[in-house]
Amino acid sequence: MSKEKQFVSEITPQQEDFSRWYIDVIKKAELMDYSPVRGCIVFRPDGFEIWEHIREELDRRFKETGHRNAYFPMFIPESFFQKEKEHVEGFNPELPWVTEAGGEKLEERLAIRPTSETMIGHMYSKWIQSYRDLPVLINQWANVVRWEKRTMPFLRTSEFLWQEGHTAHETEEEARHETMQMLQIYKEFVEGYLAIPVIVGQKTPSEKFAGAVDTYSIEAMMKDGRAVQAGTSHYLGTNFAVAFDIQYLGRENSMEYAHTTSWGVSTRLIGSLIMVHGDDRGLVLPPKVAPTQVVVIPIGPAKLRDQVVSRADELFAELKTAGVRVRMDDRSDVSPGWKFNEYEMRGVPVRLEIGPRDMENGVCVLVSRVTGEKRIVEQAKLTEEVEKMLNDVHSEMFNRALQFRQENFYSVDTIDEMKASMEEKRGFTLAGWCGSDACENQVKEETGATSRNIPFTVDEHKSSCLVCGEKAKHTVVFARAY
Ligand code: AMP
Repeated sequence: MSKEKQFVSEITPQQEDFSRWYIDVIKKAELMDYSPVRGCIVFRPDGFEIWEHIREELDRRFKETGHRNAYFPMFIPESFFQKEKEHVEGFNPELPWVTEAGGEKLEERLAIRPTSETMIGHMYSKWIQSYRDLPVLINQWANVVRWEKRTMPFLRTSEFLWQEGHTAHETEEEARHETMQMLQIYKEFVEGYLAIPVIVGQKTPSEKFAGAVDTYSIEAMMKDGRAVQAGTSHYLGTNFAVAFDIQYLGRENSMEYAHTTSWGVSTRLIGSLIMVHGDDRGLVLPPKVAPTQVVVIPIGPAKLRDQVVSRADELFAELKTAGVRVRMDDRSDVSPGWKFNEYEMRGVPVRLEIGPRDMENGVCVLVSRVTGEKRIVEQAKLTEEVEKMLNDVHSEMFNRALQFRQENFYSVDTIDEMKASMEEKRGFTLAGWCGSDACENQVKEETGATSRNIPFTVDEHKSSCLVCGEKAKHTVVFARAY
């Protein structure tokens, strides 16, 4: 077996077993490792750095829209959870409890937060007295814990990292506007930064956040056709304000309940971008979040090595100064071929090769991870050419993902068609739905697919429910989901 084959063979092909492929890739690329605690993972530096880039950009967008960061404690008194009935019912099965600390049994058990609506609601009731205190626009970057039965690294872990925005407003209109604004920010970020096309829409009541009036989501299609809920934004109405007494003196001198929202994305985004873009050679990272955007590899015979490496160092320095995340690999004990495979597996978007002949001609070669395209570029225009190629890689990744989604998007009229579709093909299925829980449940039981969301825009409006045949209230996207 050739070295190259041997290298690739360590990664299970996607077609053979997609889950296995995923685990092989994230472990081999050193993004994560399993921890000794069930369902919890360790984020290794390359995995964590992807999160850092996600965080930097989202944080910038949150601040640009008037939000500020704060931090609330991770322990939540049990009594807080009793205050909002749906919230406690939704989260109770997943809560871990602290019952003892400092060698003593606690008087009241403390939950480790699965989300912070209750704690933040409690604090907002103290901070908000008058309409002049509104709106409150706060975000928190934190870890949360949900004791999940089924786990999958990054996509569904027991402890995960996320941001949770929590806002309070005078009116329903303002709070709804906020809910939609944040959903739009998520869409723009996930498409424009992670190169993942998403379907934006409203969750059905059974898939809503526990305690929300309305939940909205962005949904993405993985390469095995399954869905991932990539982000959510909730309009909470006055539910948490009533439960936690967030009342304020209104403009007309009467006491009013605030309208609140919450919205979040998590480290699940890392899993999503791997499953959307990766291939049989390994990771394919979107340039805007890749820990290394360009790897410089000097090539050529040993006797000319020093000259080539010294020019490669200059190119490296130029890119670094321009703000490109660049890495030099001038090791002489491994072959260029081995390095090519290694950085392809790690998903580095652009490889820069330079050899003796390129030096003579004042050029170097840029190679795209996603298409394999080689561009011979003038060294004098290096930064510009690299930036152009990084942008092209991003667009190519987005277009490929969009095309894949279009090719795996079906439309059905009956549950039998849906069953056949789910068994024979992978992907998303559009269908009409009457609005009843019973019909939605039947789809889940018979096909394994859940309603992803009611998209804001669809090419086709369905007229009848796929289960009961009654008039359709909504046109819904169904899929098997992670
Ligand atoms: P929620 O508070 O349930 O609306 O979730 C907020 C965000 O966290 C969504 O984007 C979810 O996709 C994500 N999320 C929920 N549960 C998990 C989990 N166990 N692991 C990673 N991400 C999660």
